[in-house]
Amino acid sequence: MSIQIENKTRSFSKEEEGVFLSYVEKALALLLSKDYIDDQLKSSGAEVSVDVRLVGTDGIRKLNAQYREKDKVTDVLSFPILDMTDGKLNAKLMPYDFSIVEDKKFLPIGDVVICPEKAKKQAEEYGHSIEREMVFLAVHSLLHLLGFDHENGRDEDLMFGKQEEIMTEIGLPRSSDLPMTTADEDEHPVGEMLAHCGYCALVGRPNVGKSTLLNTISGMKLAIVSHKPQTTRNNIQAIYNRDDAQVIFVDTPGIHKPQSKLSEFMVDSSFRAAKGADVVVLMADGRFNKPANVEIRAAEMAKKLKKPLILAVNKADAVSKESLLPLIANYSKIAEFSDIVPISALKDDGVDELMDAIIRLLPSQPRYFPIEEVTDQSEREIAAELIREQILHYTNEEIPHGTAVEIDAFEEDFKEDAVDSYDRSLVKIHASIVCERDSHKSILLGKNGQMIKRIGTAARENIEKMTDCKVFLDLHVKVRKDWKNRQVFLDEFGYKKKED
Ligand code: GDP
Ligand code: MG
Repeated sequence: MSIQIENKTRSFSKEEEGVFLSYVEKALALLLSKDYIDDQLKSSGAEVSVDVRLVGTDGIRKLNAQYREKDKVTDVLSFPILDMTDGKLNAKLMPYDFSIVEDKKFLPIGDVVICPEKAKKQAEEYGHSIEREMVFLAVHSLLHLLGFDHENGRDEDLMFGKQEEIMTEIGLPRSSDLPMTTADEDEHPVGEMLAHCGYCALVGRPNVGKSTLLNTISGMKLAIVSHKPQTTRNNIQAIYNRDDAQVIFVDTPGIHKPQSKLSEFMVDSSFRAAKGADVVVLMADGRFNKPANVEIRAAEMAKKLKKPLILAVNKADAVSKESLLPLIANYSKIAEFSDIVPISALKDDGVDELMDAIIRLLPSQPRYFPIEEVTDQSEREIAAELIREQILHYTNEEIPHGTAVEIDAFEEDFKEDAVDSYDRSLVKIHASIVCERDSHKSILLGKNGQMIKRIGTAARENIEKMTDCKVFLDLHVKVRKDWKNRQVFLDEFGYKKKED
């Protein structure tokens, strides 16, 4: 059995973490000894492993938005990997359920994400210690990973009974004031003002200009813009605000055929983005006047999901007006578009008209996000994207898209007279570039380390524009063979399937 803790928040100290970890280890060991837990978990010869991540309120809100379509700060989230019900596996364990790391065999059962800030508040409310609240949440989440549930019409008492039993056995018996459920109340961070507000999924082939549009509308570098296809891998949200409207954009990777697991995930996430959206915008490239198969598929998808569909014909600056007419005629055959708007995302032409067309289709409701929010991505994630952008820029096709950037550390130094968290004097970032082959590593490093230096300098300059202070960027290159097809690594780099 092994538990890895990744503490991404400063509101939980190293000492607190140590105490917490020892309780959670005890709890998991106890759980695994219970007869209601499937024997396959006990006798597989692999170490059952769980990743525990501690995140801030922004982090957990983002995960909620991404995986549960809820704009909320919750105390805990569980991401089970195995298909289980009440401690028993619903299917036999398969070789791909296991992972081998440095010759050791692991059986990952899922991730637990806890927000210590939220837990602290709850502990205060209930008048017990933060440790107890944190352990309580962890045990609750471990039970979820093992297939127990208190929602979806399932037997609540069964789960809570087991939870109480474990808490007592590890020496944290329930007191009368301990919450029975993990509080999940709504926190409305945003004003009451009504607006046209909603989600817009931007779909389209790679390279048509989706990221460029997002950057134009948000006036900030968000998604990676690259002339090489498929550089946007996760759904990135840009938020467009106007006095009377808010549009939350979900940038999706191009829709295309699955190849490796990573591409499967990308297709999956386009679909998911469209499913959760109020409006779908299909972006086409004005230079090609026939719809591609994937665009036909995207139009079919919108129809199936009963979503209004707008056609944005991008790169209008690169073609003559007349040539748009046959294009519009051809595309009109594949769907009933609510609107067809020629634009130039690059030159900011027609973008206001496109926004009007989208906003007309959005429901009247309060804003989801505070006005000042441009993106729900953290600076850490944007920094990783900015590094990836430079890798793609400098290495041409030699480095395939199977390269990930991991931010290992993101530390801030503040000015002496700092009044808020943006008054920084320096941001220190340590990042790893993870590639699939030794040969890729040598390309990334370049002769005498020149390539990595160039990538680092360019990325650092862009990151400084975001942080508005000096940045120290330290880059390392790591090789992990075949990570694209290994779910563990996909998980590690945040390419996760939705839990449902
Ligand atoms: P994505 O894959 O759909 O996100 O496409 P990108 O936003 O990364 O853009 C791909 C390429 O098309 C980049 O080289 C952009 O500069 C270029 N591009 C995007 N929008 C326009 C536009 O309106 N006009 C022209 N001429 N080029 C554009
Ligand atoms: Mg893109």
